[in-house]
Amino acid sequence: MSFYDIPSDFVSKLTGKYESAVANEHIVFAGDSAISEIVERKVKDKTYEFQLTHLETLKKRPAKGSKEENPFAKPEPELTILDSYGPNDEFRVVFNKFPVVPNHFMIITKEFVSQNTPLSPIEINASYSILTHLKKHDRSGKNWFAFYNCGQQSGASQPHKHIQFMTLPNGYTPPIDSIANSSPAFIPSAKQEPLQDSSLPFAHYVARLPDDISDLNEDDLTMYFSSLLQRALTTLKQNGHNHISYNFCLTTKYMMVVPRASGYYKDLLGVNSCGVMGLFLCKNQELVDLVKHDGPENVLASVGLPNTSGEPTDEYHY
Ligand code: AMP
Ligand code: AMP
Repeated sequence: MSFYDIPSDFVSKLTGKYESAVANEHIVFAGDSAISEIVERKVKDKTYEFQLTHLETLKKRPAKGSKEENPFAKPEPELTILDSYGPNDEFRVVFNKFPVVPNHFMIITKEFVSQNTPLSPIEINASYSILTHLKKHDRSGKNWFAFYNCGQQSGASQPHKHIQFMTLPNGYTPPIDSIANSSPAFIPSAKQEPLQDSSLPFAHYVARLPDDISDLNEDDLTMYFSSLLQRALTTLKQNGHNHISYNFCLTTKYMMVVPRASGYYKDLLGVNSCGVMGLFLCKNQELVDLVKHDGPENVLASVGLPNTSGEPTDEYHY
């Protein structure tokens, strides 16, 4: 099943165009100078993996974008994989110009839409369609995920709406997988709370998707998302935050929303959706040491909100 048709040569276009854009220096790949290590952390009764990546060249990245200086208003043709995508041709599919992981790409809206808006049903289904296409056709064995950094404290740097697609490190299992894998498919209702791993010290709301994707219809993913977002909004409100900031992560197995209190850890380390998938990008060795010393799960607790598992929901919830 695929909601929105994707050209059958998408994967070969993606990899072919990526190689030539790197060779012609339209894409500035930083991954060659990255030093990555997987660290295992025992938290309560469970062991989780996190990946710490040390990347000195991160210091040379362009600063934050703005609506006036917006690289997504007119994306470079050399970075454009699909000039039109979506049921109403409302999106483009373009490469991230500064990837750390090969083939990192994004769906961007053609017209300016704010990154502070929630994902629309079409955007969610478009993301899922791409992930299911990649799962079926990408023979590299890589595990893809999609992510969306929403709001001022979510770690986003561009204000024009973009949903990103990246592969996980080989053999790496994100912390969230254990709860998602051990649970049956989510049915959003007042009686079924989103999943949350009580061992992880930050609030995260997870919906397991059905194993058989033919069981999904176009409205299901939107219902899942709105149910998770409602819980995240309630948690933000309960903690006195008047901004709406969260990370959204999607795989073909689960969807997750993580409410965010802050975009930076100790004003030093930017944390976005990759962070809540356990992947930390550090621009110097001191930051790698800081994350190791403080514990990656505690970094996520600090930039997120307290875990709410076991707390009863009440009529004050959105
Ligand atoms: P975020 O930081 O999550 O908002 O993601 C925005 C991404 O856009 C960053 O990861 C940048 O690497 C990427 N980016 C910045 N400038 C450009 C550009 N001119 N073309 C394509 N991607 C870009
Ligand atoms: P940013 O600081 O948002 O410009 O992120 C730098 C680039 O790496 C962007 O393309 C991000 O989406 C991506 N990225 C962010 N965190 C990680 C990570 N932990 N591992 C790999 N890539 C990442």
